[in-house]
Formats: sequence, C-alpha cells, structure tokens
Amino acid sequence: MSAYDYDLIVIGSGPGGQKAAIAAAKLGKRVAVVDRHDMVGGVCVNTGTIPSKTLREAVHYLTGMSQRELYGASYRVKQDITIADLMARTQHVIGREVEVVRAQLMRNGVHLVSGLGRFTDPHTVAVEGGPRGERTSLTGEYVVIATGTRPARPPEVDFDEARVLDSDEILSLDRIPSSLVVVGAGVIGIEYASMFAALGCRVTVVEQRERMLEFCDPEIVESLKFHLRDLAVTFRFGEKVVDVAVGEHATVTSLASGKRIPAEAVMYSAGRQGMTDALGLEHAGLTADKRGRLAVDDHYRTEVPHIYAVGDVIGFPALAATSMDQGRLAAYHAFGEPANELAALQPIGIYTIPEISYCGATEAELTSSSIPYEIGTARYRELARGQIAGDSYGMLKLLVSTEDRKLLGVHVFGTGATDLVHIGQAVMGCGGTVDYLVDTVFNYPTLSEAYKVAALDATNKIRALARFTTT
Ligand SMILES: Cc1cc2nc3c(=O)[nH]c(=O)nc-3n(C[C@H](O)[C@H](O)[C@H](O)COP(=O)(O)OP(=O)(O)OC[C@H]3O[C@@H](n4cnc5c(N)ncnc54)[C@H](O)[C@@H]3O)c2cc1C
Repeated sequence: MSAYDYDLIVIGSGPGGQKAAIAAAKLGKRVAVVDRHDMVGGVCVNTGTIPSKTLREAVHYLTGMSQRELYGASYRVKQDITIADLMARTQHVIGREVEVVRAQLMRNGVHLVSGLGRFTDPHTVAVEGGPRGERTSLTGEYVVIATGTRPARPPEVDFDEARVLDSDEILSLDRIPSSLVVVGAGVIGIEYASMFAALGCRVTVVEQRERMLEFCDPEIVESLKFHLRDLAVTFRFGEKVVDVAVGEHATVTSLASGKRIPAEAVMYSAGRQGMTDALGLEHAGLTADKRGRLAVDDHYRTEVPHIYAVGDVIGFPALAATSMDQGRLAAYHAFGEPANELAALQPIGIYTIPEISYCGATEAELTSSSIPYEIGTARYRELARGQIAGDSYGMLKLLVSTEDRKLLGVHVFGTGATDLVHIGQAVMGCGGTVDYLVDTVFNYPTLSEAYKVAALDATNKIRALARFTTT
C-alpha cells in the first residue's frame, strides 16, 4: 500500500491536466485533479479556446459574412446582432464541454477536488476555496502542475471591467461596442479584432512591433491585412500606448507618437502570465521565471524529479493542442510507460476571419537555411468548391524541395484552412513528395483539391527548370 493518498495529483483541469489525469488513470493509477469549481476544463473551455472559437462561429453565421459573395453585400442572417445572441451559443457550448470533461474524469475514476491547490511540502497539496469553503490536504507520489496562464496586465493601465478590458473580460461585454482599440496584434488580439470588425465595429489595432504574426507566411498575413482593412480595421504598427483615458461613454487611447484614438472600449491582449504565484512553489523547492513560467526537461519534469509541469505554464507553444499531449507524456514518463516524443511537425491555426493555418517550414526559414524550394499555389476561386462556397480569396501554398521533391511546408488562408492543413501535415510527417499529391485522386468538388492544383503548379515549375538545365 502506497504511503500517499494518490499516485498522481494534477493541479489544473485544462487540456494538459485532463490528459495527464486520464493517461495515469488508464494505467490503473489513483488520480486526483484539483481546480476551481467554476473552471473545470480550464482556460481552454471557460475563457480561451472554446468561447473564442464559438464566438467566431456565431459571428460568422449571424453576420452572413461567408455568404455575401453569393447573395450580395447586404446579406445578413440577423439584422441587429446583440451580445446575447453571441453569448447564447457560447454559453451552450461551454456548458456541454464542461460536462464532457467531468464525465470523462468520472468515467475513469479520477477524483475532481474543488478549490485552489497550493504546495505545503513537495508531496502535499492543500486545497482551499471549494464551493462550500471546505479545506483539504492531499498527498501524492507524483504531481503534475497544469495551472495555465492569465492575461498579463500592464501596471500603468487601469482595467475597469467595463471599457478597458483584458482578453478574458471581453466575453463579459454587455453590448457590442461601435468602436474598439485592440492593443497587441498577437494571435488572440487579431482573432478578436477580426470578429469585432465582422460585427461592424470600427477596430484599431495598436502594435509595438512593425509587423504582426511574424512567424507566418508574409503573403498570407498580407491577405489577412487586406481583408481586415476592407472591414474598416486600422493598423497602427510601431506604436506604443502611453495612456488610456476613460470617460463616461468612451475612451481615448494616446500613443507615444502623439496620436489619440477615441473608442467605446479598449481590449488589451499583451501576452499572458503563468499561474504560479499562489502555488506555494517555495514549499515544493521550485521557482518560476518572471513571467510565472516553470522550466522542464524533455519529459516535462521540473527540477524536482517527481513534479512535472505541462501546458501554458511551461510557455511556448501554449496551445490546447500541444498541452494535451504534454500531459499524456508527463503521466507516461512518471509511471514508466514507454512513449514516443511529440512529432516535430506541429500545425499552427489562427482563427481569424478568414482563418490561417500552416505546418512545416516558411519561405523565410528555407531561404535563411539555403534550402532550394519551389512554390505551388492554388486559389480557391479556381476550384469548383471555392465557387460553391463563395470563397474567392482563399489560397493554399505548398513549398516543395527542388532537390528531392519532398513537401517542406503548407500554408493555407481561407475557408477550412485549419482543417485542410492536416493533409499536408500527414504527407510531410510520412516524408512524402509532391508526386504523391499529383497522383492522388481527391473528391470533387472539395477544397482539398487545392492540394492537387498546387502540386501540379509546383511540379510544372520544377519541370520548366529541369528542361532549361538539360538543354
Ligand atoms: C482567447 C484564447 C484563444 C485561444 N485559442 C486557441 C486555439 O484556437 N487553439 C489552441 O490550441 N489553443 C488556443 N488557446 C490556448 C489554449 O487555451 C491553452 O493553450 C490551453 O488552455 C492551455 O491548457 P493548460 O492545460 O495549460 O490549462 P488551462 O486551460 O490554462 O487551464 C489551467 C487551469 O488551472 C487552474 N488553476 C490555476 N491555478 C490553480 C491552482 N492553484 N489550483 C487549482 N487549479 C488552478 C485554472 O483555474 C485553470 O482551470 C487560446 C487561448 C486564449 C486565451
């Protein structure tokens, strides 16, 4: 009989914590997950991924955006969209997802303990603040920290939960503002900027850097910027906010350059801070960096060997998708279960309107590594499915090695991009060449057919080069 209450205690019930708990339970271990009663499913289900993606879906549907090429610029599913319309769908999906998480944990015999966890020694977690104010103390042989992050708040800004908000609070707006300043053009900032712009809100994006989404293909980022400008988004790159003044009905954001931007509300999306300050890390022998993040080795083990950390609290890439696998792998490592490492090829999905996704190398990376490549492009407007769907702007771009014809990267912009990317990911993951895509029959009419069109484009260019060099 073990000296501990549990084989594994998981702190945090987001994607990383859930999957660590389930993986350990499937190995026959006794597992407890600690989280606040109203946060089951984590940031992912309650304030981050799921609400923002559901909101996007509601905006897309109710504004009729995706159908306007077919039915005209004035097409709307609902004329006056209210925050209640948007939130109804969002709350419905959150509720369902929380139930799925609870049921999954319960089915696998994982104990869900309500409250906030804090180390009192390296094997003991005190839990306080349950719904009835209960306190308890749990001991575990292993601990996984999966406490995630919260929005970082610059100290000089007065957040008032009404007009000056962070990206978590934007979900509690009581109405759709007619104008909005978004500070920070990272993924979260730009996703929300595109949603509010689609709702008819005049959005100004202020970003200190000279560019946005630098890690993406510049041609695709240009296409996105073009679309957003078309929806009346103004970009202020290379600009710093020095003050946000809040009046009774509006705000004025002042920039270091002297510009002043009036708007009904301001949303800050200035990075995120690891949730480690209340964890009592000192009692576990751990320290976090100044952004609250924990350092781990290749097996997600912290400097204290029986304590692991996974998900956003360990930093990049800070995605629900990767957090889940990190949780599973941490549990396998703790209990000696053999497992493969995460595949190096990881997709990036940006759920702007329109959406962006890519996997593998970018042109800039290949150029700086002196790897010769050719580009194959397919435009949705040349695909029958693109016409049927009313998407004339979408595109898919393949980067193909001119030396061994292997697929090196895939970049997609437009309808279904975040799903379509996985075809390219699978081909690349299996070391496939562009010829596989040329020789493959795709369902017709589909957007997946873009792969064949782009592959033919790339091989035609490679052939032209080969002809020239052999003549
Ligand atoms: C607006 C937004 C949009 C996003 N969109 C996407 C997307 O489209 N795709 C994607 O892959 N990712 C997206 N993400 C990122 C994704 O949400 C995170 O990567 C993911 O949620 C991280 O999972 P996690 O396991 O680290 O835990 P989290 O989901 O961060 O949850 C951590 C949990 O730990 C709990 N906790 C904290 N401290 C304690 C404590 N002391 N005791 C007990 N519990 C504690 C919290 O209450 C919380 O429930 C988005 C994030 C945001 C904010």
